[in-house]
Amino acid sequence: MKQSHIIRAISVDGSAFIHAADTTAIATKARELHQTSKTMTAVLGRALTACALMSAQLKGKDNTMTLQFQGDGPGGMVVCVGDSHGNVKGYVGNPETELPPNAKNKLDVGGAVGQGTLHVIKDLGMNEPYHGMCPILTGEIAEDITEYYATSEQTPSACALGVRVNRDLTVKSAGGFLVQLLPGADPEIITKLEENLKNIGSVSQKIAEGMTPEQLIEQVFDGIPFDILDQSDISYTCNCSKEKYSRILATLNQKDLKSLIDENKPVETVCNFCNSKYVFEIDQLKKYVK
Ligand SMILES: [Zn+2]
Repeated sequence: MKQSHIIRAISVDGSAFIHAADTTAIATKARELHQTSKTMTAVLGRALTACALMSAQLKGKDNTMTLQFQGDGPGGMVVCVGDSHGNVKGYVGNPETELPPNAKNKLDVGGAVGQGTLHVIKDLGMNEPYHGMCPILTGEIAEDITEYYATSEQTPSACALGVRVNRDLTVKSAGGFLVQLLPGADPEIITKLEENLKNIGSVSQKIAEGMTPEQLIEQVFDGIPFDILDQSDISYTCNCSKEKYSRILATLNQKDLKSLIDENKPVETVCNFCNSKYVFEIDQLKKYVK
């Protein structure tokens, strides 16, 4: 499968910039790992695409970002993590949730996510991570990201995300874009952008039809001169390790730790993002008893 990638472009006059991505390979890997239903493949695929687009704005070498939809829908919590190197990973609370199509005869992403709060946590290498939030508007993910940028970061944006799922549950296509206005944006450019966005139609359909991120950018910036800044690979990658989990074990309270040892049962941890299993034998647990 083609490597997922992201492209950055900016209007020549500096009014607006855009990130556009093809995330078909990322959504495919997520579906294989989590064995998601059709609807939940769309939920996770859209959220991972959003996370990849947002993470592309991280500037520091080791910056990470967490996107968390805490909704009351049957799909459960949606968590995605991205970093400044183009790695994303994610999971959903109830991967098997399936819902009937919505009123528009589309996969009911909003119904699966439900109502609640969208949290965005950015670890920018400062003492405290940045934590922004907003109410979940529709649960369709793209609208919620736009709302988040408007209310929490005061940045006018437009986001479109799409995931198409084949009859056999595999991912046909996934991708999207995030366009944002820069301070002092030219009102004429804003009007033109709004017009283009109104006419753009279904992003998932366009990607399914073979439209590349470059072509998406051309449509969003139709009639607006722009420069492509760069292109980079993105992928579904989990960087977990036994050592990381041992650090979590070390923070367990002593009472819990002792009762685990008394029960004489090795502890098995499973990574939510990639299903890797790590087993800690009793001897290893004993090291953490003070
Ligand atoms: Zn992992």
